[in-house]
Amino acid sequence: MSVDIKKIGVVGAGQMGGGIAQVCAVAGYDVYLIDQTDEAVSKGLEALSANMDRDVARGRLDEEARNAAAGRIATGTAYDGFKDCQLVIEAASEDEEVKKAILKELCAVLPEDALISTNTSSISITRLAAQTDRPGKVCGMHFMNPVPRMELVELIRGIATEEETYATVRSLADSLGKKAVNAEDFPAFIVNRILLPMINEAIYTLYEGVGSVNAIDTAMKLGTHHPMGPLELADFIGLDTCLAIMHVLHDGLADTKYRPCPLLVKYVEAGWLGRKTGRGFYDYSGDEPVPTR
Ligand code: NAD
Repeated sequence: MSVDIKKIGVVGAGQMGGGIAQVCAVAGYDVYLIDQTDEAVSKGLEALSANMDRDVARGRLDEEARNAAAGRIATGTAYDGFKDCQLVIEAASEDEEVKKAILKELCAVLPEDALISTNTSSISITRLAAQTDRPGKVCGMHFMNPVPRMELVELIRGIATEEETYATVRSLADSLGKKAVNAEDFPAFIVNRILLPMINEAIYTLYEGVGSVNAIDTAMKLGTHHPMGPLELADFIGLDTCLAIMHVLHDGLADTKYRPCPLLVKYVEAGWLGRKTGRGFYDYSGDEPVPTR
């Protein structure tokens, strides 16, 4: 028997949290979305509204459904609004300490039988679940970016995840119109275990001067039929997130093949995180992205 979900909490109003809030609200769930500051919440809500407007303009969502969905989303910075949620999805920055602190705060307010999901791209679900008072009710739910457009959700059981939890999360994924794939709880699961080493290798290719940003992305688009080049994709994901995932792979699998490229480290240290900060491997300040190398 799966839990009847009506209201879903989302922690983190960044690109993923906003997208998750949007698809949940469009599917008819009440949503409570929080971030750390009022400013981050407003920025998230603005991006979410702009995304829904774009979907209406492109005929993917009708105006009435858009307005109904917007009316189902409440926002704030306080954990109080999670009190009547049956499920909370954690989608804050890819940092284990940040996520652990959030989980502790969440457990203090959540009803005993409420479930917790995390949208982590790489961190052990077992380890995160162990920080909670309900490891059996925790399940990884890894959405893809942009959430409203991408069909896949990876579902990851921790060692303690109960079958009822998994079944509930799986039927939630179905109700959001997503295709669920099961992945075991190993660093970075399936998609990022394969994707991130490719992106990291593309950055090494740039670092070693094998090709320019433009040459690498063009080669991979035309040579492998990828819709986006790996450097463009890295900027889209966020270079901080890419680096965090490489660290999880490197630490968790202890293989030098996962060593993060020093150029990726340097970009993150410079605050050049990709699209979200206006600069990464491309400069986004003009009408068209301009390669930076
Ligand atoms: P982002 O940087 O766009 O957003 C992260 C948000 O979390 C920010 O708004 C930040 O203010 C907020 N945050 C940080 N600490 C917080 C706290 N203590 N409480 C509440 N909010 C807090 O990052 P994102 O791309 O949305 O990634 C979020 C999560 O989703 C990460 O775990 C990431 O690995 C995962 N993910 C990302 C992608 C991607 O392509 N970017 C894809 C799948 C999953």
